[in-house]
Amino acid sequence: MPAVRHRLPIAPATLHDFDAGLAAHHRAPLQRGLVTTLQVNVGKLCNQACHHCHVEAGPKRTEIMSEAVATRVLELLAASPQITTLDLTGGAPEMNPSFRRIVVEARRLGRRVIDRCNLTILFEPGMADLATFLAEHDVEVVASLPCYTADNVEQQRGHGVFAKSIAALRQLNALGYGAPGSPHALDLVYNPGGAFLPPAQAPLEATYRDRLRRDHGIEFRHLLTITNMPIKRFADYLNARGEYDAYMSLLVNHLNPATTDHLMCRSLLSVGWDGTLYDCDFNQMLELPVPGSARTIFELGTLGELSGAPIATGEHCFGCTAGTGSSCGGSLT
Ligand code: SF4
Ligand code: SF4
Repeated sequence: MPAVRHRLPIAPATLHDFDAGLAAHHRAPLQRGLVTTLQVNVGKLCNQACHHCHVEAGPKRTEIMSEAVATRVLELLAASPQITTLDLTGGAPEMNPSFRRIVVEARRLGRRVIDRCNLTILFEPGMADLATFLAEHDVEVVASLPCYTADNVEQQRGHGVFAKSIAALRQLNALGYGAPGSPHALDLVYNPGGAFLPPAQAPLEATYRDRLRRDHGIEFRHLLTITNMPIKRFADYLNARGEYDAYMSLLVNHLNPATTDHLMCRSLLSVGWDGTLYDCDFNQMLELPVPGSARTIFELGTLGELSGAPIATGEHCFGCTAGTGSSCGGSLT
């Protein structure tokens, strides 16, 4: 995939200092608006161990949300009517024993529920009815598929993952997921296979649609392009190749101030497996909690208390503002 080339000026003094970079464009400090999305990371356990994973998830990870923390999440959700969307992520969120309880209860509360699904989980033991469960509860599926070709997918995600992903997408399509006009939303996620920015989202979506329809008969709603964040496993990958500094410079030099109004941290709160509160899943992986005195879900009466609060930032934030911008919902501009 070609890299996007947006050359936007930035003063050398602001290199790697995100707040200074925003200030140079009169966009600092970064503050949350109304919180409307609660993203819950139910743990690092995953059936895969992808090279780019910012969670460093895998089959041997033991950090997993307990029943008690899941119960508190649901209590807070019930007490926070402004939260319209519950976004479940991991690891493979479906591997958490509380996953289905959280889904059922959040749907009973009338909230939109998103499952960030790696697709191969559908073929793990005990998951034979997972796709049907998701469809029956009108859960939206956001599925990782970093390319429409087997080679690129397997380079990032492991041998055999592409064929299983296609089989899983067929299973979801058969349940109505991704069909034009279907209430069952199925979005795919692209992230670059190396140290470059994602291509423009709309033309790449058109190419994905054409190739997946023609080669595999697969339908989906939207393609979401996500920039690789320079943290955890992807940072290790960059460091091992001596590319970390060049990648940071790429992100910094492509800072696009038009993205800042749409950064996901402005309307989202992230909860870790142990109930700690973060401004986003990336800050969570860096163990950078929300600023302020309430640091866990046990210290809040309602999630609305963090509307308007300051946001903790770091140099990784340049990953969200580079080029057309990036978020869990894809490109920002
Ligand atoms: S990228 Fe997703 S599927 Fe891959 S190891 Fe991380 S959480 Fe699991
Ligand atoms: S990394 Fe998180 S806190 Fe930083 S800009 Fe992106 S969403 Fe906001």
